[in-house]
Amino acid sequence: MLQRDHGDRKDRKLARWKYTIRRLGLDRVRTELADTFGVELSDAEPVALPPMQLHLGWNEQRGGGGWYGLSVENGRLKGAQRRAARRVVDELGASVRLTPQQDLLLCNLADREGVESILREEGVAFPETVSLVRRNAMACPAKPTCGLAMTDAENILPRYIDALEEAGLGDVDVVIRMTGCPNNCVRPPTAEVGIYGYGKNDHVVLVGGSREGSRLAHTLYPRLAGEQMVPALVGLLRVLKERNAEGLPVGEFLHRTDPEQLRAWVGLEVEA
Ligand code: SF4
Repeated sequence: MLQRDHGDRKDRKLARWKYTIRRLGLDRVRTELADTFGVELSDAEPVALPPMQLHLGWNEQRGGGGWYGLSVENGRLKGAQRRAARRVVDELGASVRLTPQQDLLLCNLADREGVESILREEGVAFPETVSLVRRNAMACPAKPTCGLAMTDAENILPRYIDALEEAGLGDVDVVIRMTGCPNNCVRPPTAEVGIYGYGKNDHVVLVGGSREGSRLAHTLYPRLAGEQMVPALVGLLRVLKERNAEGLPVGEFLHRTDPEQLRAWVGLEVEA
C-alpha cells in the first residue's frame, strides 16, 4: 500500500520499491509501517556467510542415499549431459535442484553406482575431471539471447577458459564471472575476477571480490577489447599462480594487491 501511494509508476526506471524507500527516507518508511500497519522493523544485523560450495559429485543425504552434483557449464544443459540427466531422473527417480552456481543436483538417489554408470554410458565427464577454473566460472546468456546484451558472455567465456587450460592455468582456484552488460546477472562485481560488457567490443575487468559475495571487486581494466581478454586473463591467472606467495584466497590476494602492481605483472599494453 505504501508503494501504491508513493511509488513512481510513470517512470519505469524509478518504479521499484527500493527507489520509493530512497525517496521517502528510511525513517519515514519505518514510521509509516509502524503507525499504519503495526509492522515494526528490526535493524539489519551482519550475518556470517558460509563458504561457497559447489556440491558436485556424490554427496550423502541425511536419512540415507545421496545426491549427485553435475557441473553444468554456464547453466546450459545440452547434449550428452542433458541425456544423462534425463535418464537419471527417468530411470533412478531423481529429483532435480538448481544451484546459484548454475549447476544441477540430482537428488534422492539410492546409490552412487547407478548414476555414475549412466554418466559413463553417456560419456559425461565426472565433475572432478573438470578444471577448477571451469567449475567455478559462470556467465549470463548475453548475446544473442538477451536483448540488453552489449557483448557475448556465455558464448565466449568457455573459449577464454580453453585458453587458460591450454596455458596450464586450469588448476588455479579462482572464481571468474562474466556478463554481457552492466546489469551483472551472474554477479561479476562480487567475483574474484569479474567481467562485464560495456560497449560493442569493450569489457570492464574487476578483481578482488570474495567468493562468499561479501566484498565488492574494484576495477583493474576499465575497458578492454575482446582481442585483449585472453592475454589479460592468462596474465592475471599466471600472477595468481606465481606471485601469491602467502597462499591467500585469490580474492583476498587481488583485493590487497595494488592495481598498478597487478597491471605491471600482467604486462598487457593498454591505451591510457
Ligand atoms: S547481465 Fe545483461 S546481458 Fe547478461 S543476462 Fe543480464 S541483462 Fe542480459
